[in-house]
Amino acid sequence: MKINFECKKCKKPFNSEVGKIAINPTTFRPDFELPITCPRCGVRTINDVFLTELGQFQRTDATWDL
Ligand SMILES: [Zn+2]
Repeated sequence: MKINFECKKCKKPFNSEVGKIAINPTTFRPDFELPITCPRCGVRTINDVFLTELGQFQRTDATWDL
């Protein structure tokens, strides 16, 4: 699925296709099937981006509640 992120480096929002989403049982952070790719900076980790409000909404939509 596509999620909207904001890149911490270039401060620009972007949509990235992340495939399937799972919660990492160790870190409780989301694990994405595909890498998050900023169109300007290339591949980013979850630490390099913010989830935008739209992303949060999509997250709820994806039923990844714990
Ligand atoms: Zn960027």
